[in-house]
Amino acid sequence: MMLRLLGLAAAVLAATAASAQRADSGRISGGADDDLPPAQRLRIQQQLAAALGSPELRRAVAARKAAGAVPLQWPLRALHGEGFGYHGISNYVDHDPAFPGRVLDYACGARTYDNAQGYNHAGTDYFLWPFPWLTMDDGAIAAVAAAPGIIVGHNDGHPDRSCAMSDLPWNAVYLRHDDGSMTWYGHLRRGSLTTKQIGDTVEAGEYLGLVGSSGSSTAPHLHFELHDATGRVVDPRHGNCNAEPEHWSPPQAYEDPAINTLSLHTQEPEWVGCGDGSEGAMQERTYATDAIVPGTTFHALASFRDQRRGDVATFALQRPDGSEFAHWQHDLADEDLPREVYAATVWTWIHTMPVDAPHGDWHFVADFHGRRYTRAFFVGSETEVRAAAVMRERAAVQALTPAQHPGRGDL
Ligand SMILES: [Zn+2]
Repeated sequence: MMLRLLGLAAAVLAATAASAQRADSGRISGGADDDLPPAQRLRIQQQLAAALGSPELRRAVAARKAAGAVPLQWPLRALHGEGFGYHGISNYVDHDPAFPGRVLDYACGARTYDNAQGYNHAGTDYFLWPFPWLTMDDGAIAAVAAAPGIIVGHNDGHPDRSCAMSDLPWNAVYLRHDDGSMTWYGHLRRGSLTTKQIGDTVEAGEYLGLVGSSGSSTAPHLHFELHDATGRVVDPRHGNCNAEPEHWSPPQAYEDPAINTLSLHTQEPEWVGCGDGSEGAMQERTYATDAIVPGTTFHALASFRDQRRGDVATFALQRPDGSEFAHWQHDLADEDLPREVYAATVWTWIHTMPVDAPHGDWHFVADFHGRRYTRAFFVGSETEVRAAAVMRERAAVQALTPAQHPGRGDL
């Protein structure tokens, strides 16, 4: 299955202030899909059972204190990046054993999938958004342990740029927790796994590997899967169609409308579909910039997760003195789209910076769902812009502590 990216027809919105013209296209993504073929699932289960039966792991398990239900925490962490958010959720666990096309998520919705081979999606898919391949290549987002436990297995060395369903194996880490439950972290980037070994303990939030697209996967994402002590797949989300108590602490919302990023671009970014799979072959071109030269045209971009019809986003470009240069709104209802909610969207608006625009620090501001998002940018001559870029680079290098450098094992 292809990454479901749809270019949208032009829809120029009425501007409520100067220079807010919608760009030619928006982007909608269903995120990422995946599959774990039965033979692979069986192999993993055998691998983990064998490991758990080994004297080393028996000793490691015995050394830990057994616990009641272990609460789970957010299984991802941004190692770097400037976004407010970096993910969307494409699929939950499918609770309807029938197939194909018979799906039911924990909240009695249909945010999940099955296939004709009888696979009912057994985990939660957290995909990267808005520039999934670039974000993956940047090593920006890590899968982290949802709870303390012991590493009971890992798979590595497999290609990590899949963009279609396949029989390829994934790179993954498997943990056992003190209530006997297990968590699986699948589709990781090749060579990015923690250097810790089977039998080693991990803390909650500890680095396990980078989000990638190894195995049967249409785009970079984490497939997170929970099993109880008997090996049964468990959906950690409580809802009307899942009697299981909530395992996430804090609970994760079914829909989580938010702005992931605000950014400026010298031209419309280019997304990519399914490339040839070679290193660097699939990567978006963003044309992102932090500085605008007066007299030039630029794109203001907002990416959303769980954007819903009727949720109005308000945007403004503010001059250094705080006054508004441009002001506009966006509502999914203004688009010619059939659904009430989309897991991931991107919209861009074209502006022209006047030749007499005041130089200095401007702000791209958005209000959405009760939260304010602010992104600073610089307006000035090309000389000033170059000088500002050098300053920012110096500041960024100084701000980086060793722990923030992406790398293996030390995270
Ligand atoms: Zn999945």
